[in-house]
Amino acid sequence: MSDCLFCRIIAGEIPSAKVYEDQWVYAFRDIQPQAPVHILVVPRVHMDSLENVDNENAVYAEKCLQAAAVIARQEGLSGGWRLVSNCGPDAGQTVRHLHFHILGGRKLSDTMA
Ligand code: 5GP
Ligand code: ZN
Repeated sequence: MSDCLFCRIIAGEIPSAKVYEDQWVYAFRDIQPQAPVHILVVPRVHMDSLENVDNENAVYAEKCLQAAAVIARQEGLSGGWRLVSNCGPDAGQTVRHLHFHILGGRKLSDTMA
């Protein structure tokens, strides 16, 4: 059994509120939403963060970006949305499995940092 939280969520060992899946990507609602819509988009293969994207796994990262736009449309975020990937401790990354936060459903802050 993996000790990675998101690998366990993808495997169905830990329950999640799924919003989208395909052969590369799994997406589910964040357990502590910071906006009316707060969804995590994760690649089905483990990589710690964007620092670990390489020629082998890049398709998974690319598919996350494509899926994010599909999900944003599905969630009705026609007014706009933000995609965030925290990378490393200074960015506050708490789960070491690459993920992208889709944030939307209200006017988001003007500052990003
Ligand atoms: P990070 O801080 O690494 O960029 O984002 C990790 C995110 O995972 C946080 O927004 C946190 O709320 C979310 N999270 C942590 N544990 C769980 C969980 O068990 N289920 C879900 N759905 N989200 C989680
Ligand atoms: Zn993982």
